[in-house]
Amino acid sequence: MLDIKEVAQNVYLLNVQVPINVDSVNLYLINGEVPTLIDAGTNTPEVIEAVHEGMKYVGMKRLEQVLVTHWHVDHAGAAASFAKEGARILVGSRDYQEWASFVGGQAFGRLNDWAIQEWGVPEKEISGMIKIFQHFRMLTELPNEVSLIEPGQSIMAGDNPLRAVFTAGHTAGHMSFYNERDGLLFSGDMLLPNEIPYPGIWQEEGQVVSGLPSYFESLKVIEALEAQSYMPAHGAPHTNPVARCQEIREQLYYKVEKHRPAESVYLSAVNAGNQKIHPGVLFLKLHYVYGWEQLQKRVG
Ligand SMILES: [Zn+2]
Repeated sequence: MLDIKEVAQNVYLLNVQVPINVDSVNLYLINGEVPTLIDAGTNTPEVIEAVHEGMKYVGMKRLEQVLVTHWHVDHAGAAASFAKEGARILVGSRDYQEWASFVGGQAFGRLNDWAIQEWGVPEKEISGMIKIFQHFRMLTELPNEVSLIEPGQSIMAGDNPLRAVFTAGHTAGHMSFYNERDGLLFSGDMLLPNEIPYPGIWQEEGQVVSGLPSYFESLKVIEALEAQSYMPAHGAPHTNPVARCQEIREQLYYKVEKHRPAESVYLSAVNAGNQKIHPGVLFLKLHYVYGWEQLQKRVG
């Protein structure tokens, strides 16, 4: 059943089901001179069908472009399918590299090495995480051609320009898109009403870093926009993004402060829960713990 509603003038929230742990993701159809889709969902027939139905519902005859907030499969997955139907795909240049490295498989090796050497994860536990990666890889496809977005770039969407706002943290090149005229921020996974996105890891000058320090910077960037409301990729649209940024910052500080490192990131992650944990949960916990420890080191 089609789950769509108008959330601002000519902006429609289309909630689609995706076959991963998040269950569903919000895509946004923006009608007008430049028919636009923000985020694409997983590359699954149900998602593609829902987008087609959503377009019909809002009277959109063609899709001119898809703006991708970040490379994760529930956001970028189906972009290639829409590209084959004639849409232009716009994605931040940094996240495009990450996407390509995931599809090409290099990201798997990086996770593997990092988990063993730096986090102290036993090898037998890693195969579960790699299996999830393999499953996710089936849900995405790299388009043959993309237009790379740089931070600050202005992109027409519907009848209004959107500014690409660099909001790294959850991924290395996460972009939010800001409609300044209406004070409307499409925040992807950067700012969510009911959860704090897990900090990513990526390589910077040959070093693997946690995305958490960047995430704190991005919170400041979002606050400075003074947007009226935000349209997240998960959960309902909300007013007052600044208040949400403050709330998230406080919760994160509290977690960082409270954290007492164990012998390894792995042991901290397992202690944080109990007994045997699902590899997907382990994956998330490792990212959180690593982020907290990186921040503790910075503060000293
Ligand atoms: Zn997401």
